[in-house]
Amino acid sequence: MQDFSERSALVTGAGSGIGRGIALAFARAGARVAVSDVDVAGGEETVGLIQRAGGQAVFYRCDVSSAAEVRSMVQGIVEDTGKLDFAINNAAVGMETDELPDVPEAIFDRIMGVNVKGVFLCMQHEIRQMLQQGHGAIVNIASVNSYRPQNRQSVYTASKHAVLGLTRNAAIDMAGSGIRINAIAPGAIETPMLAAALRNAPAGRDQVIDKMSLIGRLGQPDDVAKAALWLCSDDASFTYGHTLAVDGGYLSR
Ligand code: NAD
Repeated sequence: MQDFSERSALVTGAGSGIGRGIALAFARAGARVAVSDVDVAGGEETVGLIQRAGGQAVFYRCDVSSAAEVRSMVQGIVEDTGKLDFAINNAAVGMETDELPDVPEAIFDRIMGVNVKGVFLCMQHEIRQMLQQGHGAIVNIASVNSYRPQNRQSVYTASKHAVLGLTRNAAIDMAGSGIRINAIAPGAIETPMLAAALRNAPAGRDQVIDKMSLIGRLGQPDDVAKAALWLCSDDASFTYGHTLAVDGGYLSR
């Protein structure tokens, strides 16, 4: 178990699913967690879960696709805690339901705005703060779609390829700065986003498990959280610019 006492951790999209799992895990490790989401009810529920378990958390409402909101979120965290040790850029919207010729332009703009511009803006403001401190660790939540396309997911797949590109290029830019930048590529993890995707999938749950996992089960948010904790810890001090698959072996096929 990592000891993150006296550390400050930001998790975006922490009002649901994987982000909530990551926020809970950082709080269990002793960090003071900035729970951020555009969804106030979900974010406050996560804060309540952390506080009832004896952890420290504060909610910061932020739409990651807005530069002004991201700036003020990071400023707020630094005003409240004096620093930002870890940032998990997890917020995203799910995949479209059409094949490429039928995807509305507004859906393209929304997916790219949250999943790509959101990660870009968050990294910008997090890195500016971490450069001042001389240390920090960032983990971007990518996807197995960063490597492998799926039916009817061309824009989502493109957005997750871009998260990989941002991660790897930022790692080159920030080499030697004391900031470590990595990503996680989750496979099929049981969350509201996966449930929505399954509702649109012609195949049933068993077929999804069969197709998406070699080990006979779907992933849980805590599977991703454990990887995020490790990537932020000193145990991962030589892991840099890397994307760690947490996918039940899906990408190994
Ligand atoms: P989720 O829908 O359960 O949670 C996403 C959270 O992001 C929600 O709380 C939502 O309110 C928030 N959010 C959406 N738009 C936002 C915005 N503009 N600003 C701030 N917050 C916003 O989804 P999840 O399954 O937990 O996904 C979390 C991450 O994991 C995403 O990056 C997703 O692409 C990735 N991922 C998920 C799976 C999976 O199987 N669940 C697989 C691969 C990758």
